[in-house]
Amino acid sequence: MTNKTQIIIAGAGPVGCVVGLILARAGISVTILETENDLIPELRASTFHPPTLDMLDELGVTPKLIDQGLITPKIQYRDLEVGLVAEFDHALIDDRTKHPYRLQCEQFKLTRIIAEMLKEFPHAEISFDSKYVDASQTDNAVRVFYETPAGSEQVTCDYLIGADGSRSEVRKSQKIEFQGFTYPEQFVTVSVPEDVDKIVPGMGHVCYIAHPTQWCALIHAPDYWRFLFPIPMETTKEEAFDDEFLEGRLQHLAPHQERYAIQLRTLYGVNQRVAETYRLGRILLAGDSAHVNNPLGGMGMNGGIHDGVNLADKLVRIYEGGETEELLNLYDRQRRPIAIEYVQAQTMRNKKNLEETDPNIRRQRQDELRDVAKNVEKSRELLLQTSMISGLERSEAIT
Ligand SMILES: Cc1cc2nc3c(=O)[nH]c(=O)nc-3n(C[C@H](O)[C@H](O)[C@H](O)COP(=O)(O)OP(=O)(O)OC[C@H]3O[C@@H](n4cnc5c(N)ncnc54)[C@H](O)[C@@H]3O)c2cc1C
Repeated sequence: MTNKTQIIIAGAGPVGCVVGLILARAGISVTILETENDLIPELRASTFHPPTLDMLDELGVTPKLIDQGLITPKIQYRDLEVGLVAEFDHALIDDRTKHPYRLQCEQFKLTRIIAEMLKEFPHAEISFDSKYVDASQTDNAVRVFYETPAGSEQVTCDYLIGADGSRSEVRKSQKIEFQGFTYPEQFVTVSVPEDVDKIVPGMGHVCYIAHPTQWCALIHAPDYWRFLFPIPMETTKEEAFDDEFLEGRLQHLAPHQERYAIQLRTLYGVNQRVAETYRLGRILLAGDSAHVNNPLGGMGMNGGIHDGVNLADKLVRIYEGGETEELLNLYDRQRRPIAIEYVQAQTMRNKKNLEETDPNIRRQRQDELRDVAKNVEKSRELLLQTSMISGLERSEAIT
């Protein structure tokens, strides 16, 4: 690593990579410290919302993602016992976005695309096998301590960005609290190669299926259809991944005459948490290090990328336009309340709607969705909300 790096980012996940690319394009020297020896290849998030695609388009990334992704214009709401309740087409909001659809594309494809693009910039680097450990700061600089296989290293930079995920060492080392709660259940994802829309005719490519105990989010990613559902916290990984258990769940959700050819399974605990601040002097948090939420609605990675773009644009303005660091307080003021009032609230509501146990409330929710689907203005409102456009507009209006 050179000793001229202006900005250090901890973490080469989707957020760290997007921030790195924006800074590199603006001529700012940037080093991304990544603890692993390569980009993380796991499936994880796979939904890109319209405004995220609009932002990534400005960076020349969206066409590359589209090449490797699956365009899904519609989202569906179902009830396991009732069937289809309502369907909404993003075409209704094509006046508010250049990309009126969700793009299903695994997050590792985004990081690989950006890592390749970063190679064009001699002043940008991803430093693998480099684990952020600690940082101290003065009024003018941040000293970052990190570990490599060769031993402990340190580097001085202007700003440090913690994009090192939910267990962020940047956040912990700066003693920033991560306020919120952990859900009492775990989430399982199961990926199958079968075309579920042929097994259950009309099944949507993004589909939320309500049921008091067996609710599910079903997503058609480019190579697989992916079921996500809850299981009790006390279930062991062995039990959760048991072939018969999973087969039973899938058959209940989408009855098939044959056995499903399950390819991938993941199990993880889910939190709803937001950092008490996104800025501590010259140290900033973005993405999962700043906020985590349940995956219902696909808002975690998208919200993180929105943080990253907001923050990187402000840093570029500080370097290029001589604007003051007060802009970094504006980053905190714009992004943190949106994480709480919009993303946290919406994802918790999504989960509550899916798992509702009271039959009357369930029916009422279905009637509401049917009413919304019949009304163009209400449908637009729902889509602007679910695609995160409303939240972003609210965030940008904060001064
Ligand atoms: C197992 C799992 C499954 C998920 N599934 C879904 C899903 O189905 N749908 C959905 O919407 N979202 C899902 N998410 C959430 C989604 O993946 C995140 O919202 C998204 O990855 C956030 O991006 P990020 O860049 O902020 O953090 P991350 O993607 O976590 O990236 C952080 C990066 O920092 C690196 N790092 C960590 N510590 C250090 C350190 N000390 N020094 C240097 N580097 C470090 C990590 O190796 C990683 O590369 C899932 C998350 C997990 C963990």
